[in-house]
Amino acid sequence: MEYIELQDMKMPVIGLGTWNLRRNECVQAVTTALKIGYRHIDTAQMYENESEIGEALVNVSVPREDIFLTTKVWSNHLHYNDVIQTLNQSLQKLQTDYVDLFLIHWPNPAISLTETLKAMAQLKTEGKVKFLGVSNFNTELLHQAQDISPVPIVNVQVEYHPFLSQKSLLEYCQQNGVALTAYCPLVRGREVNHPVFEQIGKKYKKTAPQVILRWLIQQKNVAVIPKAARREHQLANFDIFDFHLSDEEMQTIFRLEQGKRIVTI
Ligand code: NAP
Repeated sequence: MEYIELQDMKMPVIGLGTWNLRRNECVQAVTTALKIGYRHIDTAQMYENESEIGEALVNVSVPREDIFLTTKVWSNHLHYNDVIQTLNQSLQKLQTDYVDLFLIHWPNPAISLTETLKAMAQLKTEGKVKFLGVSNFNTELLHQAQDISPVPIVNVQVEYHPFLSQKSLLEYCQQNGVALTAYCPLVRGREVNHPVFEQIGKKYKKTAPQVILRWLIQQKNVAVIPKAARREHQLANFDIFDFHLSDEEMQTIFRLEQGKRIVTI
């Protein structure tokens, strides 16, 4: 396993995304992933699967301190008391005393960012949250959050894959000690037969999804959280640490950029 290490945080570069995993399928998928060796799980209050993830964490006897667990507070719960209350509910569902990373899921201009970040810092002081981050923030808003926050903002989670550039945000992150977690790294499975990735993959005996994930994690400060319900997908996505893309192959993939965004609100 490779890690992003910054500001005391040690985050496995690959985690399991869990959006759209519900009930037994979620328990099974997370249990399987932990057995394969995944040590980073991404959830959110809005995914309504924290209880199932808690069940999987209890099922599998991996020490809690070996797992990097992320959850997020939704944009209608960003007032001080709501942040505190909903995080406490998340901890109860996840059957744990703390989460490693707590993110603002989506910015909400109607609620003061100062107020939200104050509540998040309080949770960190209480030991219920180890690190703070934001999601779906652009460079300007991330900078603003860093200026305001009483404690460091060490992560931003955004949509990132070969068809959507995050050049300026990533450069900012690399210069300012922030890890960038790429969501929808596999473009929701829509580009898994793309000829450019297949062609590059042939040389290394890797599939297109493996080439995409490798391209992402080979960039400084970038982590990936592909969602995979199926065991064979989980295994494939975890098998990306034994090859290295050349500079030319990296650039070929960078040239696929076309401003394609899947998630909008
Ligand atoms: P994704 O990870 O890009 O794609 C998931 C899809 O790809 C699933 O249909 C999965 O199939 C398929 N897949 C996975 N591995 C594969 C492989 N090796 N070969 C072929 N197909 C494969 O999309 P996502 O779930 O939207 O994004 C990942 C995670 O990011 C989410 O689950 C969530 O945790 C997070 N996220 C965060 C935000 C945010 O606002 N912060 C927004 C969106 C997503 P199976 O499931 O059938 O295996």
